[in-house]
Amino acid sequence: MRLDRFLAETTELTRSLAKKALHREEVSVDGEIVKNPAMQIGDDNRVTWNDQPLALVGLRYLMLHKPAGVECTARRTLYPRAIDLVALPKAERLQTVGRLDVDTTGLVLLTDDGQWSHRVTSPKHRWGKVYRVTLDEPLEGEALARAVAAFAEGVTLDGEDKPTRPAELAMREPSVAELTLFEGKYHQVKRMFAAIGCHVAALHRESIGPLALGGLPPGEWRELTADEVAAF
Ligand code: URA
Repeated sequence: MRLDRFLAETTELTRSLAKKALHREEVSVDGEIVKNPAMQIGDDNRVTWNDQPLALVGLRYLMLHKPAGVECTARRTLYPRAIDLVALPKAERLQTVGRLDVDTTGLVLLTDDGQWSHRVTSPKHRWGKVYRVTLDEPLEGEALARAVAAFAEGVTLDGEDKPTRPAELAMREPSVAELTLFEGKYHQVKRMFAAIGCHVAALHRESIGPLALGGLPPGEWRELTADEVAAF
């Protein structure tokens, strides 16, 4: 890789700022000041900028406990973004694997590996996503039995022609449900409950496939282990 590109990949410099840094003699390769942006850098070269060693970052895989008021988006909006909570170099290259609404809390995966992201989200792989759904009224008795059957069969959401894939509904408390989905449509949980006449007061995602938040506190993130990445 060319030295100017290496600098742009490993620092906040753009390629043109990298060239200026080279011109100012701020960059060394294997202990020697280098000014040539076209110099080829290989795995064995030791590159520093202002005496700080630089290293390429590989693909990254993280889980975040998204608090309410944070958006899963790449563009800047009124709200802080999920990637703003991740204190890593080049965090803006990370993308959330699917999305949670701004008021939904819970497990969000982030990666810069598009193929892995696809494996996690593709309905073909049938990874269940488990949501804790707080309803504003209890769901019990016959209404509950009808809801379980409707979700297992699939409901047709407003504005769509195909029903949702079979989903699993169970109650943890009279107004707290556990819903497992095997796909991810826009506002799916809220729209599914709306389709059976219920209103979702709070929504929290606990797990995606084999990955659960565990005790990760709200607003905190951690890297996935190699086994966790390989599980998908
Ligand atoms: N379904 C929703 O309605 N909202 C979410 O954030 C996730 C799933």
